[in-house]
Amino acid sequence: MISPSPRNVDVLVVGASLSAAACAKRLVDAGLETVVIERKKLPRHKVCSGILSPRGHRFLIENFGPLPREVLHEPTSCTGVTFHFPSAPSIDIDFFGGPTPHLYRKQSDWWAIRRSGVEVQDETSFARLEAGDGGVVVHATHRGRPQEFRARWVVGADGPTSMVVKAVYPEYQASIPWFMVGQKFHQIEACPLDTRYFHFWFHPALGHYTWSHARDGRQIVGVGFDVGHNFDRAHANVVKYLGKRHGVRLGPAQDSEGCGENFGLSLVNRYVFGRGRVLITGQAAGFLNMMAEGMSAALHSGAICGESIVEAAFHGEPAQAVYRRHIASEVRRCSDQWNPLQIAFGRPHEADFWKALGPLGIGERAKVIAEILAFIRLYARFKWGREILGQAVHRLIRGGYDEARWW
Ligand SMILES: Cc1cc2nc3c(=O)[nH]c(=O)nc-3n(C[C@H](O)[C@H](O)[C@H](O)COP(=O)(O)OP(=O)(O)OC[C@H]3O[C@@H](n4cnc5c(N)ncnc54)[C@H](O)[C@@H]3O)c2cc1C
Repeated sequence: MISPSPRNVDVLVVGASLSAAACAKRLVDAGLETVVIERKKLPRHKVCSGILSPRGHRFLIENFGPLPREVLHEPTSCTGVTFHFPSAPSIDIDFFGGPTPHLYRKQSDWWAIRRSGVEVQDETSFARLEAGDGGVVVHATHRGRPQEFRARWVVGADGPTSMVVKAVYPEYQASIPWFMVGQKFHQIEACPLDTRYFHFWFHPALGHYTWSHARDGRQIVGVGFDVGHNFDRAHANVVKYLGKRHGVRLGPAQDSEGCGENFGLSLVNRYVFGRGRVLITGQAAGFLNMMAEGMSAALHSGAICGESIVEAAFHGEPAQAVYRRHIASEVRRCSDQWNPLQIAFGRPHEADFWKALGPLGIGERAKVIAEILAFIRLYARFKWGREILGQAVHRLIRGGYDEARWW
């Protein structure tokens, strides 16, 4: 079969994600011919709790306008996060500035992409690329048929398992740890967990990431587990615990979904920003904060990526160099949220953990801290301690994170 003639564009963005929408908005506003390709049919489903941080909320309003009702789940907003512990009292931590939207990712991402004004081609999968000095040739498949794009710049906004990252650095993904997360949706018989909050358990016996929240009349129960381990067993263990400890009674799971996550790269400052004319952004680049909140960093890094290309297009400096210079601010924001020195002495999060401890007695506060530290020991096997400390000290002395560690 003869493939159609190549499509020439200024910028090809891979993935119709939030980072892509933010990036495309900058490119389209500057008049650059931009196409977004998305492997799924749009609007597409995305596994996500949909809890947006205040900064992400502001970004959406400022760039795309007021959020329509159809981009929200029920409950439509989230007040904050409740932390639960094996024996310490649970604490509610409210977001600064009040509740934030509970996004329905299928609709919110599609809405943001459309609001950016970019041209989108769905059911089109990035396959590989050939990068040269003057541009990049991208080979994709559209509904199974080969398609070629020739772009001056390519943006990988294609999420944690990014094929664009793989094309640029084939060895990168094998060099980082991977985590699995899965969630099931249950009918509710009785659930005393406050529906205004996202609930998270610092409980080593449940798993390295355990959460629950209400959505559209059902209760989501989610759990992190190691690659190759049994999701159903880990999930059943959490459901049993929720019943015993919190009096949660749920019907059998109706739907189930999961995916792999490149969790922890922002913790150890191991981001990947691309090479030459290929730029990587959003979670593909490693942006994900301590609560696995990635939407606000996806939006901001996407916008910075787009701005860097615009600057390159009109002023001639290589986009990669501009991007690496400008993205340092977003790296600081995201990595600060993991940084033990920033957590102890600064306020890197968008909710005040220390204030939430206030009403507790000294003994209870000590118990909370002790149980968080016991939980963190789950991660000891990754031997990240020295890297975390090294990056925290670098941040303290130099005011930023070590750029030499980025791919
Ligand atoms: C269970 C779970 C719960 C989460 N909860 C929250 C939360 O409450 N709050 C929060 O802020 N974050 C949350 N996150 C993280 C958040 O979903 C991500 O960080 C965020 O969506 C990243 O956005 P992105 O723009 O980088 O890319 P993504 O949203 O990952 O989108 C990437 C896009 O690229 C497309 N794509 C992939 N490969 C190709 C290809 N080869 N060709 C073409 N297209 C391709 C994908 O189909 C997808 O549309 C959660 C994640 C999980 C897994």
